[in-house]
Amino acid sequence: MTRASPGAARPITKETRLDHCIFCKIAAGEIPAKKVYEDEDVIAFHDINPAAPVHFLIVPRRHIPTLSDCGPEDAALLGKMATLAPRLAAEQGCGVQVDAEGKHSGGFKTLFNAGPDGGQEVYHLHMHVIGGPHPWRVRFMQQ
Ligand code: AMP
Ligand code: ZN
Repeated sequence: MTRASPGAARPITKETRLDHCIFCKIAAGEIPAKKVYEDEDVIAFHDINPAAPVHFLIVPRRHIPTLSDCGPEDAALLGKMATLAPRLAAEQGCGVQVDAEGKHSGGFKTLFNAGPDGGQEVYHLHMHVIGGPHPWRVRFMQQ
């Protein structure tokens, strides 16, 4: 299957690893990152320019440019990313907690930016996980 990448001159195949892609290079261990998790499908590492006390990215190893390039065949990968988020958030100290009275505390936000109007800067799919005590920077809410 091929995927139409925004701004690409030709389709990018699902299996393509892009030599100029910074997240492909991080996934390959070619440039350093402060990793919080990795397995055969995904890696997670701290954002280099954090918007909050906790800010990490969950990134598939495979080069997929945007969420808009994902199809039903990617549901398992996206589900894995979504279910990893609370687990890793808890490990990073911003998990959702519930006390004996049922009152919630802590917590985090998950976010995919997609395309220019969505504020996407790196065209390798990634989920932001943002948490910790407020205030947070608001760049993810407005440009
Ligand atoms: P987005 O705007 O959704 O494409 O977000 C891209 C994110 O990647 C930004 O929050 C950047 O700070 C982050 N980023 C860019 N380069 C690196 C890097 N080398 N290591 C960690 N995070 C990075
Ligand atoms: Zn890539």
